[in-house]
Amino acid sequence: MQYILENPVHGVIGPEKYKCTISWRNGKFITDEPVKSGGQDAGPDPYTLLLSSLASCTLATLRMYIDRKGWAIDNIEVNANMYQTKDGDKLSTTIDRDVKFLSEITEEQRKRLAQIAESCPVSKILGNPIAIRTFTFSNADVEKKINYTNGDVTVVWKPELCKHSARCVNGLPEVFDVNAKPWIDMQGATSDRIMEQTAKCPTGALTTVKNKPEQQG
Ligand code: SF4
Repeated sequence: MQYILENPVHGVIGPEKYKCTISWRNGKFITDEPVKSGGQDAGPDPYTLLLSSLASCTLATLRMYIDRKGWAIDNIEVNANMYQTKDGDKLSTTIDRDVKFLSEITEEQRKRLAQIAESCPVSKILGNPIAIRTFTFSNADVEKKINYTNGDVTVVWKPELCKHSARCVNGLPEVFDVNAKPWIDMQGATSDRIMEQTAKCPTGALTTVKNKPEQQG
């Protein structure tokens, strides 16, 4: 199993209603709720973000395909919205996506581009069975840690943050082996290689600390 994003999207909220700061690989942005829901509308709300994800993925996928084909279609627009219906306890969501090509296109191109839009990665996620796993932690859980050292560097493992994604095991099996005890063998690779791999842990369960000279054996 490998996560799609190298680092998870990270969100934080404080007491201010309902401003969230979302960190992603290249910066931060604010999300909020509309005024009618008690927020300040200072950023996109979660529904808008979900539809933005589909709209942008659709546009980027179409752009790639059109460019590959060499078709003269410069500008494309997408409108996306959704509604929900309830049948007893069962909630169903329908997303409508309108794609407009601001150039002349043939009927054959229109059909093919509709197929391409439907095959964009986010369409595939939303259109297929999807599971959400929620792991909860308290500060005390997060404080729990186990150290492994080779004298030069110390790997700190926080078991409560480990989601068993196996990225470490697959990336550096000489060091990380869940069937061995201890499961981290600090002699299995160089310090640089261990540090490089721990930096790829998607949850922050693994971190590395470079030991000071007096701590080295
Ligand atoms: S330590 Fe990190 S990379 Fe390794 S299994 Fe746990 S979550 Fe995955």
